[in-house]
Amino acid sequence: MQYYPPTLLNAIKQLSRLPGIGEKTAERLALHLLRAPERYAASLAESIIALKGQTRLCTLCHGLSDSEHCRICANPSRNASLICVVEQPADMVAIEKSGGFNGRYHILQGVLSPMDGIGPGDLRIQELLERINQGAVAEVVIATSTSVEGDSTAAFLAEKLSRLPVKVSRIASGIPIGGDLKYVDQVTIKRAMEARHDL
Ligand SMILES: [Zn+2]
Repeated sequence: MQYYPPTLLNAIKQLSRLPGIGEKTAERLALHLLRAPERYAASLAESIIALKGQTRLCTLCHGLSDSEHCRICANPSRNASLICVVEQPADMVAIEKSGGFNGRYHILQGVLSPMDGIGPGDLRIQELLERINQGAVAEVVIATSTSVEGDSTAAFLAEKLSRLPVKVSRIASGIPIGGDLKYVDQVTIKRAMEARHDL
């Protein structure tokens, strides 16, 4: 490895910092990039810079977006009176793939976890309450995971939302206990969304 020139060594070092990429794989990838056409290497580099420079959070749902409002929030055919609360952007994607939901989302950016020092102030809970206070929201579906943290976050939200004039339900049947939405199949998510129950 030390016989490589410094530029190649640096590329290997940077690639090996990616999750799941060991030094051997990083070496293979760097050599592959070296052989690849110039335009491919350039577009890969540009896409990484654009990813970091342009991706931001949607000001409404706090999902990933590259403009003020994400594509879902900006879509007038989505039901704005129905909000599905999820932990992470990947959970939203899992529900979208199921095709069983036509409302909008609210991404908490995590779950309550006292063990990890994550409290209500670290999540987008206040922003959710503000969205509801602005009116036009009739129902909130809580689709946090069925882990201990996901359930306690759902209970916390249900208590907060019970003071507001909004129907609150919890995504339910079929999601395995401890289940992370992004690993659950689409049909199961669709059924769980249809079978949500009041909180
Ligand atoms: Zn949005």
